[in-house]
Amino acid sequence: MSATRVTPVYEPVIDPSVHCSNCQAVCCRLLVVLMPDDVVPARFITRDERDLEVMARGEEGWCAALDLDTMQCSIYEQRPYICRGFAMGGPYCLSEREKWPDLAKAGIPIVLC
Ligand code: SF4
Ligand code: SF4
Repeated sequence: MSATRVTPVYEPVIDPSVHCSNCQAVCCRLLVVLMPDDVVPARFITRDERDLEVMARGEEGWCAALDLDTMQCSIYEQRPYICRGFAMGGPYCLSEREKWPDLAKAGIPIVLC
């Protein structure tokens, strides 16, 4: 008799009270490495010190594709794979939001890998 093996799927715990509409788009300050299938306008792409294709960031530290007037992604339908997988209200989102007030106060641009 053979047992069926079920591969566990990681489902992040989501805090439903969190929403991008009341956030300073803090996840859009993180390093976004592009995947081969990503189709992003060339003006938003640069290369990092490891020669990886990444989303460019402005002097303020936010992704170059972020509309700073609305704090929304200007290429939402074309956003990179990594951005598509970033769960609103998930653990990483919560952790970045928690760090933000201190970092904003200190005026230190966030550069994470
Ligand atoms: S996903 Fe999270 S960190 Fe990113 S903009 Fe939305 S609420 Fe903010
Ligand atoms: S591509 Fe859009 S969602 Fe991704 S970091 Fe830039 S502004 Fe944010």
